[in-house]
Amino acid sequence: MCTEHHAKGPGRAAVSGAARLDGGRPVRATRRRFLAGGLGAIAGTLGGGLLLGGTVAAEEASVERSGGVSLPSYHNRPSWGADEALRLKQDGTVDYPVSFFPVQKITVHHTASWTPWSEDESVELLQAVYREHIAQEFGDIGYHLLIDPLGTVYEGRYSGGTSFPVYDNYPSEPAWAPQAVNAAHTFQYNAGNIGISIMGDYDAHDISDEAWWALKTTIALICANTGIDPLGESLYTNPINGVEAMLPNVLPHRTVAGTDCPGAYIVQYFDQLRDEVAALIPALGTATWLA
Ligand SMILES: [Zn+2]
Repeated sequence: MCTEHHAKGPGRAAVSGAARLDGGRPVRATRRRFLAGGLGAIAGTLGGGLLLGGTVAAEEASVERSGGVSLPSYHNRPSWGADEALRLKQDGTVDYPVSFFPVQKITVHHTASWTPWSEDESVELLQAVYREHIAQEFGDIGYHLLIDPLGTVYEGRYSGGTSFPVYDNYPSEPAWAPQAVNAAHTFQYNAGNIGISIMGDYDAHDISDEAWWALKTTIALICANTGIDPLGESLYTNPINGVEAMLPNVLPHRTVAGTDCPGAYIVQYFDQLRDEVAALIPALGTATWLA
């Protein structure tokens, strides 16, 4: 599991296991075309069920939103059955009280686990990650958001029980720029850093087109909401512990830790990811967000 601790930390076996690795799935050598066309383009990439075994309709992979932009399907904590009692200590308090900070960085991870190839398997993995991160005393799931190979975005860390993830207010609110809940995914660099984890092991196989599309769209939404330039870099300053570092605004976990995360198959595309995010931003309204 790849979060606060390095990728091979204790507890990884809880969500690993060769029996669940799907080595027979197709692996692609290069990234495919830019998917900007919404439902039609997504349906095209599914190739008659090459990846999904024909069990999930392409239309479920995205939701048409305002402005004609398709956004990933989003499942909040109640929808995947997050047991909120797990976050609570016996006296009803929490280890990590919800606190929010201005967004400075976006960090990409992978779960370094078996790879879920259906919604049921994704929910099973979410539950496993949740339990494991509680056991590691992260107080909750370490990541803000997780994305499965079907391109569905799942709410990770609790952000106050609102209908939208990550932020303290919906981006359409004019009073202040949305701030991100403090999480636990990048040791020493958490406050003001949004963590997105691709579900699976991307040292073992390539990222699916659907996950790639959901990842870049989600990052582009965050950039549109917060004004972050995905092609830029800036001095990160942790408002809690004072740690500082000049960092890309969109970075792989390995940039700031001794880890392979988010896996070689994702890292090799990172410049392309930033470019495609930048190309998407103009089409997204600043008020648009997952909900
Ligand atoms: Zn990581």
